[in-house]
Amino acid sequence: MTKIKTKYKFNSETLQYEKIKFSFKKFFLKLFQRSVVSFSFGAILMVLYIIIYESPEEKLLRAEVKFLQENLNKINQRLKVNDSLLNVIAKNDNYIYRTTFELDTIPTSVRNAGVGGSNRYKIYEGYNSTEIIKDVAKQLDEFELKLKIQDESYKILLAEMKKRGNIYKSLPVLQPIHVNELTRIGSFYGYRPHPILGVIQMHHGIDMVAPTGTPVYASGDGVVELVEKIRTGYGNNIVINHGVNGLKSRYAHLHTINVKKGQKVKRGELIGTVGSTGLSTAPHLHYEILVNNSSVNPLRYMLVPNPSEYEQLINETQYPGKSFD
Ligand SMILES: [Zn+2]
Repeated sequence: MTKIKTKYKFNSETLQYEKIKFSFKKFFLKLFQRSVVSFSFGAILMVLYIIIYESPEEKLLRAEVKFLQENLNKINQRLKVNDSLLNVIAKNDNYIYRTTFELDTIPTSVRNAGVGGSNRYKIYEGYNSTEIIKDVAKQLDEFELKLKIQDESYKILLAEMKKRGNIYKSLPVLQPIHVNELTRIGSFYGYRPHPILGVIQMHHGIDMVAPTGTPVYASGDGVVELVEKIRTGYGNNIVINHGVNGLKSRYAHLHTINVKKGQKVKRGELIGTVGSTGLSTAPHLHYEILVNNSSVNPLRYMLVPNPSEYEQLINETQYPGKSFD
């Protein structure tokens, strides 16, 4: 056991060294004072160290933050470039595609409506990078919305194109007898003396002269509405309903009929052959175009492709599987 050292103090009044009485109170007070001093000194040193030197971990984090901020800025710039590209696409959509198909343009105010709610970006607040993160998030939101609108617009355009494509295919524009097989046009649309009855009568179609058995093709897509086999008038005849603009086509005086009532036919499909049935003097095809059941001049609608184009079209109808819709 160690002895507590006896301490002395010089008394200037008595001129003697006097024993100092040991006091726990004084001992702890001193201990406390010294501790405070050394702790403060240590703390100051530590703060100085932190200010002057960074820990390797801190250095890494600082570099990481710089890297993130720089790249976020770059990403933000790229988003801005893409956004202006999207604006060009939107402009073309409005003024080229939608206008072509007679669709209303989508106003810029709708396309650029932005995403509502100011609280939406509150979660990003309170950091040094708040502004840049907010900006990126906002740009991405706007970009997504614009893309969605554009996507919807294209879907509508595609549906419209398909609809118009079907209308185009349905128009009865093909000359029903192959250009190489047509001898001549025997009679045009209009008033003329009837070859058998001898009186001036309205001729509701055109007569296409060709030998008996010459193929007769559908002039446009449609549904066979009438198949009639009679000894008078039109003789053996077919009416195709094209389903657009009230258009129908009639093929009369046929020798044979290759289709049934209710059958769907494609433009260029073989539907019968030239004959001289009904009220007819010689083999020919009497061809009519009806609009809302009234005859019009078929030449108004007829397109005559050149022989090779005609051949190609006829060949295409030989493959019933070939369809794009
Ligand atoms: Zn006729």
